[in-house]
Amino acid sequence: SQSLLEVRDLAVAFRTYIGEVQAVRGVSFDLNKGETLAIVGESGSGKSVTSKSIMRLLAKNAKIRSGEIRFEGENLAAASERRMQSIRGSEISMIFQDPMTSLNPTMTVGKQIIEVLKKHRKLGGAEALAKAAELLGLVGIPSPEKRVKQYPHQLSGGMRQRVVIAMALACSPKILIADEPTTALDVTIQAQILDLMKRIQEETGTSIILITHDLGVVAESAARVAVMYAGIIVETGTVDELFYEAKHPYTWGLLASMPKLHEKTSELTAIPGTPPDLMFPPVGCPFAARCPHAMEVCVAKMPDYTAHSDTHSAACWLQDPRAQKAAAATGASL
Ligand code: SF4
Ligand code: MG
Repeated sequence: SQSLLEVRDLAVAFRTYIGEVQAVRGVSFDLNKGETLAIVGESGSGKSVTSKSIMRLLAKNAKIRSGEIRFEGENLAAASERRMQSIRGSEISMIFQDPMTSLNPTMTVGKQIIEVLKKHRKLGGAEALAKAAELLGLVGIPSPEKRVKQYPHQLSGGMRQRVVIAMALACSPKILIADEPTTALDVTIQAQILDLMKRIQEETGTSIILITHDLGVVAESAARVAVMYAGIIVETGTVDELFYEAKHPYTWGLLASMPKLHEKTSELTAIPGTPPDLMFPPVGCPFAARCPHAMEVCVAKMPDYTAHSDTHSAACWLQDPRAQKAAAATGASL
């Protein structure tokens, strides 16, 4: 499959009044045409910052320090704001956790979809209204002709997220970035929204980047997964490789903390400890302080990626044939 988006060595930093936070520290991945790639990690791992970088929607105090974001060959990291405005919502769309952040409470949902159509497609009048209703139908909203005339507060949370998805799809984007799209919704609605996204992808061929902290969501929806920790992708692979042959101890921890099926009182085996302070990123493996398998070499030197298959790689000294050499060079033991 062809890659639509190639992110290479992306580094993003935040200025704060007490120093600079290295939020994303050399992230590389590809997004292929028509696939869903999940980016998984705890809050603060850099997954949202990575996706906002692609849209160039970073906060004012954040800056892309280095790296490239190549979309169909064009480096978006260096694109003008004017260029980004024509790409956002048209070529690449984004939906967020809380649908209300994307909806205007004082405008009917139909009007809001029409605004998007007007901006990027120069579509107006009855034609746009018909298209808005069609989009609401596409995202599974019953009696769309009636719903277009309603305001966001007249809809349930699940329906609102469907409207946001309809808006995001209005201009048939090539990439849809969904940042925790179901986190605010209850479990039943969550499953419906994930099904909807899957169906839309099958029908439209849109590539999806799904940002989540929930491996359950990943298993439901993605083909490939990148696991982020402390601003770095620590492991990437197909869903099967991640769930059945994970190589990174952080991924093992995430898998172990997944609530088991039918386990009502979920005893979350959360990974003890906290991620490192990215104002002072460690020189070695960022997971070393929490890793039950940490060796001296882990603290001394950051592991590079080891390929375990064409699609699977992890940054960990445990199964890295170069560990011996790195330990000798740093005077550390294994
Ligand atoms: Fe654990 Fe070392 Fe692997 Fe890091 S490199 S995850 S500390 S074993
Ligand atoms: Mg986030």
